[in-house]
Amino acid sequence: MRRYHYLIIGSGLYGSTFACKAKQQGKRCLVIDKRSHLGGNLYCDNMENINVHKYGPHIFHTSNKKVWSFVNSIVEFNHFRYYPLANYKGKLYNLPFNMNTFYALWGVKTPEEAQAKIEEQRKKSGITEPKNLEEQAISLVGKDIYEILIKGYTEKQWGRKCTDLPAFIIKRLPVRFTFNNNYYNDIYQGIPVGGYNKLINGLLSGIETGCNTDFFENREYFESIADKIVFTGKIDEFYGYRFGKLEYRTVNFETEVLDCENYQGTAAVNYTEKEVPYTRIIEHKHFEFGTQPKTVISREYSSEWKDGSEPMYPINDERNNSLYRQYKELADKETNVIFGGRLAEYKYYDMDKIVEQVLNLFQYE
Ligand code: UDP
Repeated sequence: MRRYHYLIIGSGLYGSTFACKAKQQGKRCLVIDKRSHLGGNLYCDNMENINVHKYGPHIFHTSNKKVWSFVNSIVEFNHFRYYPLANYKGKLYNLPFNMNTFYALWGVKTPEEAQAKIEEQRKKSGITEPKNLEEQAISLVGKDIYEILIKGYTEKQWGRKCTDLPAFIIKRLPVRFTFNNNYYNDIYQGIPVGGYNKLINGLLSGIETGCNTDFFENREYFESIADKIVFTGKIDEFYGYRFGKLEYRTVNFETEVLDCENYQGTAAVNYTEKEVPYTRIIEHKHFEFGTQPKTVISREYSSEWKDGSEPMYPINDERNNSLYRQYKELADKETNVIFGGRLAEYKYYDMDKIVEQVLNLFQYE
């Protein structure tokens, strides 16, 4: 008998949730992570007594009751709602695209007027079947919003033209004809009380873990100690990049402590014009309604992933998707390896979908 039932590579949300469920069923797990801390991109630093989302803001939102009950069984969640603003050339607009946005742009006061405005712009564009993000955006909200609130932001975030990006990315954002600034449509939303490290520590409580531990530096040994492997890293790396490298976007954070209590009055302001080099500014204390005397902000700069930086967003364009399918074919043949999460499945997942997947895996076991 091997020492562990599962060796889990990566302690992000997929790995930690998997470990938690496996342990509940009496399985022996070892979770390893090459970073010096657990939690993957959920990890928060503490600065000025504020939880700083070190790898970008994470807001938990779901409409799945089982997922919500599960995460709440680990840690309590607060009632945070995400109301980001967009700043375009010094003027503020509400997100996601809703009646407040339409009013600020066009002065329209009723849903009927707003719909007529969008319809007029859609007709003019002549788009019937959107083939890329640009066409999808214009179809959804018209040319004005596309140019003011989408084009610059998206091209900065992805480093690619909107005409070369897949349409589904923009479909993540709701469009509403109500005066509702809540970024998500989901029934349940919030941030763990006390921060995400509490969620991760709760999931991993009583489980053997090793930080600063790189699977690839000792692959043979690690493959020999467990019956099964749960791999949450980059799938192309798992296969030695044999078909070529998948591309990712990363974000560099310029984090600053400011000697003021409240810098921007909300958790996020997106800078949607292309001339501002960063995509958004996050003010971390607002995720937990902080009243600390100082504040911490992060400017986010998006760039292409290179070795040594953190891969964050898969780039689901045609080239990368077809490369991923080659790796997936190999992965499907594995009998003792489970691939899960954004990097191993090369998919732009939200957190709740990760938890849902793991809960489903264990449902019948
Ligand atoms: N987006 C945009 N303008 C904004 C915010 C988002 O055009 O002010 C687009 C952009 O293409 C982005 C996509 O919507 O990639 C999805 O945004 P989301 O907020 O879901 O991105 P995430 O929070 O995952 O970074």
